[in-house]
Amino acid sequence: MFISEIFYSIQGEGELTGIPSVFVRTSGCNLRCTWCDTKYASWTPEGEELSQDEIVARILAYPAGHVVLTGGEPMIAKGIHELAAALKAAGRHLTIETAATVSPEGIACDLASLSPKLRNSTPGLEAGAWRERHDRTRLQPEVIRQWIESYPYQLKFVVTSGEDLDEIESLLRQTGGRVPESKVLLMPEGTDRNGIRGRDDSLIDICKWHGYRYCNRLQIDLFGNRRGT
Ligand code: SF4
Repeated sequence: MFISEIFYSIQGEGELTGIPSVFVRTSGCNLRCTWCDTKYASWTPEGEELSQDEIVARILAYPAGHVVLTGGEPMIAKGIHELAAALKAAGRHLTIETAATVSPEGIACDLASLSPKLRNSTPGLEAGAWRERHDRTRLQPEVIRQWIESYPYQLKFVVTSGEDLDEIESLLRQTGGRVPESKVLLMPEGTDRNGIRGRDDSLIDICKWHGYRYCNRLQIDLFGNRRGT
């Protein structure tokens, strides 16, 4: 499996914020978000080929009960189902962070952290053919429905302005079932404190009036935008 990095930190986003976790970042993604903060695992994927046994051994070397499979897009990584099963068998709590464009197909998972990509993620013309491919792939309501019907979940949206709200609410309707507001997390776009704080006021207002959850990026506050954190 092509792995960008394996590191031990605390979860900085979502319902499990603050929990010590081992992060396994697979390299490679089927999207090209313009504001991607891990381009070394998407636009220009870097990493090393590791066997499942090597990955599991590195994870189990840390004293953590929680493991996060992230990316890139972990669901396109070859062998991801087998790796997830092995980690479950080892007694680890497993979060899968995915853009929810690939069906789960029974993968072992304790928390599906779904982050569908809104229009604000679409790259410019410099992305070439990826621009159209990204836009065609980024929202898959039927796939999102499969995830939320099968696992505990959170729906996490990267928001750049209040104009994103219409697209979020349209998507929630398309997923079919009723998604409780408390499961919808709105996270300000940004890779530094100032950028994030600049979006906070309008986002907090949206949360207050619609019942959605504000989602911080604790890792930016604590460590800045650095790899391995
Ligand atoms: S889905 Fe995630 S990893 Fe892939 S390009 Fe978008 S932000 Fe980056």
